[in-house]
Amino acid sequence: ESTRLVEKQREIDSSAVAYPNNIPLAFEEGKGATLRDADGNTFIDLFGGIGVLNVGHSNPYVMEAVHEQADRIVHTVDFPSEARLELIEKLDEIAPGELAGDNRVIFGGPTGSDAIEAAIKLAKYNTGGTGLIAFRGAYHGPTSGPMSLTSNKKFKGHYTPLLPDVVHAPYPYPFRQGKTEDEAVKDALEEVRAIVEDPYGGLANPAGIFAEPIQGEGGVVVPPEGFLEGLREIADDNALPLVFDEIQSGLGRSGEWFACEHYDVTPDAMTMAKALGGVGFPLSATMYREELDTWGPGDHAGTYRGHVVAMRAGTRAIEYIQAHDLLAHARELGEYLRARLREAGEENELLAEVRGKGLFIGAEFAEDGEPVDETVDEIQRYCYEHGVLVWTAGRHGSILRLLPPLVLTDELAETAMDVVCEAIEHATP
Ligand code: PMP
Repeated sequence: ESTRLVEKQREIDSSAVAYPNNIPLAFEEGKGATLRDADGNTFIDLFGGIGVLNVGHSNPYVMEAVHEQADRIVHTVDFPSEARLELIEKLDEIAPGELAGDNRVIFGGPTGSDAIEAAIKLAKYNTGGTGLIAFRGAYHGPTSGPMSLTSNKKFKGHYTPLLPDVVHAPYPYPFRQGKTEDEAVKDALEEVRAIVEDPYGGLANPAGIFAEPIQGEGGVVVPPEGFLEGLREIADDNALPLVFDEIQSGLGRSGEWFACEHYDVTPDAMTMAKALGGVGFPLSATMYREELDTWGPGDHAGTYRGHVVAMRAGTRAIEYIQAHDLLAHARELGEYLRARLREAGEENELLAEVRGKGLFIGAEFAEDGEPVDETVDEIQRYCYEHGVLVWTAGRHGSILRLLPPLVLTDELAETAMDVVCEAIEHATP
């Protein structure tokens, strides 16, 4: 039945729809960290809807509020509602560093891209600048603004010209750059400083610096200590807003509420989406320092920022993570998953590096330093055939990426990792 649905979809749906590794999957039901396909097969979900389902599929605590809210009202545009105010307060409670107690939140439309668009406009509005600094390997979304900040030409090659005045600096990625952590950080920061301060740096009138505190699509690239701190310094020295894209890394994924907390660096603005809608409801938000709240009514608009069902779901999801101490669970389970991956790597010389924080995990495959994507495809397919869903990342698809729901239990994690490790051990070296 899954095959029939996929074939039917291929026939009538847009050709732009991508099927990972051509795996014929159609889901009928999700519970916690498990999924059932249209043929009744059960899978352990280690990809969580690309990092959306932090509290698990159809989490009952969230769904209770969803049903109750949906029966009353779904859409309130920008008019106030308990659901909206409650979520703003909840986000303030978990806001990182100096943003706590000193922030405003603007909800976006349904996608992460909306939050990025808002952050771009906020930076331009406040600085009068036009130029944006982003990073190689960055992914910020499929609409024009975020695509401009995205570095991979595969995503934007057909759609230029995009925003003018975007310069991509290197993101420290010691493994791929063949550098030590210190060198990678130093070189990246020197470039950023040059782009901003050197008359030959390429950006005449900068408006802001945009970075993922851990790159997701780029390959779960965890920057070494010193990088985000350095960006903070450059932003401060030049009175530029520092914007962190926490769309994939935020809301508990990394074992802290936000990935920037691992580095003790607070951005001036921060984007959220994915897990913000609780169990997959579309919702995004940009949180920024109160001082940047200089714009007036209508300076950034949007029909869909009053999705009160999504807001209720978001608040309940945060409450659920708090009540079950899922940040600590993510940290512990993440250690276990990475340890298992490293162990499996001893049997497969192509597994070159295991990275990540919390349940934001990547395993990079390479041969003589060159990316190997076929091996990762093979692993993904083997896992699928044995009931475990995993994802990939990186510009060459050579990183096996795990983004399981934070509610993944120790038992399910063990069962799933038995399969993933078997897949790695069996994959063609
Ligand atoms: N930023 C980051 C870091 C992301 O990972 C993504 C999606 N993978 C986006 C932005 C874009 O979000 P959306 O697809 O909801 O527009």
